[in-house]
Amino acid sequence: MSKERKFKKRHCKYCEAKIDSIDYKDLSLLKFTLSERFKIMPRRLTGNCKKHQELATIAIKRARQTALIPYIIDRKNVVDSPFELIR
Ligand SMILES: [Zn+2]
Repeated sequence: MSKERKFKKRHCKYCEAKIDSIDYKDLSLLKFTLSERFKIMPRRLTGNCKKHQELATIAIKRARQTALIPYIIDRKNVVDSPFELIR
């Protein structure tokens, strides 16, 4: 086993939930693809399928433009569960 397997099983969470479209206003969906510093996680870590990764990427970039999620996070602002801040 290679060291990239630390995220255990790869399966697309969006496929599991049978989601066809990802709305940029629905942050609970986007957080599957975001890291705790609001970066877009690569597909090899999240296990998302290509279709949903592309949808999520577009949605995240839209959400950034509308200031729903930040572009960057300062080191001092990093908290344990950042998604509590944006709810
Ligand atoms: Zn999928």
